[in-house]
Amino acid sequence: MTAAEGLRAPTSADSRELEGRVAIVTGGARGMGLAAAHALARRGATVAVFDLAAPGASELASTLGVAADRVRSVAVDVTDGDQVHRAFAALLAERSRLDILVNAAGIAPPTAFEDISEAEWNRVLAVNVHGTFLCCQQGLPAMRGGRWGRIVNFSSTAGKTISTAGGAHYTTAKHGVLGLTRHLAKAYGPDGVTVNAVCPGLIDTPMARALLPEEALERATRSFPVPRVGQPWEVAELVAFLASDRAAYITGAAIDINGGDLIV
Ligand code: NAD
Repeated sequence: MTAAEGLRAPTSADSRELEGRVAIVTGGARGMGLAAAHALARRGATVAVFDLAAPGASELASTLGVAADRVRSVAVDVTDGDQVHRAFAALLAERSRLDILVNAAGIAPPTAFEDISEAEWNRVLAVNVHGTFLCCQQGLPAMRGGRWGRIVNFSSTAGKTISTAGGAHYTTAKHGVLGLTRHLAKAYGPDGVTVNAVCPGLIDTPMARALLPEEALERATRSFPVPRVGQPWEVAELVAFLASDRAAYITGAAIDINGGDLIV
């Protein structure tokens, strides 16, 4: 490679750099999943939202600002292997490719450790870790076949330290997401597939609002180097970058996006 070639990025940030790509975003009905779906669609990708609470297709198309044939909205519980299998198979049958998988579905109950029932423990692990496992396993063969793929898993600050408001099951699950991410990055890098995790801090979504009232959110973020709550679009910009050609040399990373919370 010449020195000039080493300076040249494949595309610029404001291009429709994901034109022709097909993406799945779990948990894409609201919050950061929806923001990620929007960021991917804006760059030209066709986006399928897989969510327990899937919106109507025309409502989703209008929210994302794209034509109806560029979105799919599928009701899926990511913890159910049969549902996940059927949803991936239907999309692959229709589009014949899968390039991008964003695993944003998650739940974070704030239950104190001694009050966590076995069923609740299992559910939190199931949505955050098992769901990510099932979707990665369904998506990877198509990415491998196309010799190109991008997986972005949602971990959290909770995956690096402990959760601000979620319980021990949530912290455990988000650590697990990082282990899965790193394993897959090593296994599938030679196939052109990168696998990364984003680790958001406190982001203004329905999940965060349900856990922390306005005043508590403000108090919790006041001491951050960037002293405010994060916005879903800010995380979505990171997801879209990781899903692009420009991020081809980043894999197995767990990228903090938290207003500097972890350095103080
Ligand atoms: P949110 O609750 O606003 O949205 C989560 C979405 O996931 C919802 O649309 C919900 O219907 C869907 N979902 C939940 N269980 C599902 C299941 N079994 N199958 C399919 N879909 C399911 O959450 P958010 O704040 O946007 O969080 C997105 C991701 O980021 C989650 O993994 C969360 O743990 C993580 N996270 C959130 C924050 C934060 O401050 N909001 C911080 C760090 C990490």
